[in-house]
Amino acid sequence: MLPPSIKVIVRDWLNANHVLFLGPDENVLVDAGYVTHADTTIRLLREQLGERALHRLVNTHCHSDHMGGNAAVRRAFGCPIWIPEGEAPLIEAWDTRALWIDYAGQRAERFGFDAIVRPGAVLAMGGLEWETIAAPGHDMGAVMFWHVGERILISGDALWQRGFGIVLPGPGWSDRLAAARATLEKIRALDPRIVIPGHGEPFAQVEDAIAVCESRIEAFEADEKKLARYVLKVMLSFALLDLGSLDEVSLPGYLAGVPLYGDYDRAWFHLGFDELGRMLVNELARSGAIVRSGGRIFPAAPG
Ligand SMILES: [Zn+2]
Repeated sequence: MLPPSIKVIVRDWLNANHVLFLGPDENVLVDAGYVTHADTTIRLLREQLGERALHRLVNTHCHSDHMGGNAAVRRAFGCPIWIPEGEAPLIEAWDTRALWIDYAGQRAERFGFDAIVRPGAVLAMGGLEWETIAAPGHDMGAVMFWHVGERILISGDALWQRGFGIVLPGPGWSDRLAAARATLEKIRALDPRIVIPGHGEPFAQVEDAIAVCESRIEAFEADEKKLARYVLKVMLSFALLDLGSLDEVSLPGYLAGVPLYGDYDRAWFHLGFDELGRMLVNELARSGAIVRSGGRIFPAAPG
């Protein structure tokens, strides 16, 4: 279903997928994965590249699961890094709050960038020309890449087969949800034959995927606290993928050390870290997202 010049290396929820273009003139990578798994990322890329060079790394957006490994990929392959225009000020300042790094208990290695990608720009990747399309919502600076002839969309976290990247509550939340909705409308109008998402396998049932996201957005639009609770659960699940496991006894201390949990508790829940931790663990265990064993919590589907 994909042209032979496009290799999709499907990863997991801690590491974004890698889209590798092996072109006649240059080899280009979209998204670099998480910092602590950078060795795996480099090995997977070398398996595909062989002796060939990597000429460029481009990010769909600058969250840790997509750009955390940028610096390591550049060290390994010597390639320049291109990031979306809207991310440039955050990366330049290494704004660990706006980038959801320290603020959300995530990690990434600081990197510099060599060029910016503007919505509307056409990028040559894999011998094909891709239009850059703004994809605000999950990340207000995110972009997608669209090939009109092949009708292939590289969606980043704007659309997965079952869902989309979290939108934060707090000031501007309804604007962010509206932006996510508008991005889905944009995707619907493009009518892709196939979507290569930031996480999960490429898929063709695009309308079904959009419908799932729209109903979720509708539920969040009606209830900011529901959105806040969902975001906390996603952030804790993500941290568990990074850390491997957490001692339940030390969970309140962990939550106290990551600013997002205290901020959200003060704004919406008023539980304190003991009770907040219990609520999150109970709900995550009930939904099957985590497993409790021997006083520790583990991600249900590690790696
Ligand atoms: Zn992602």
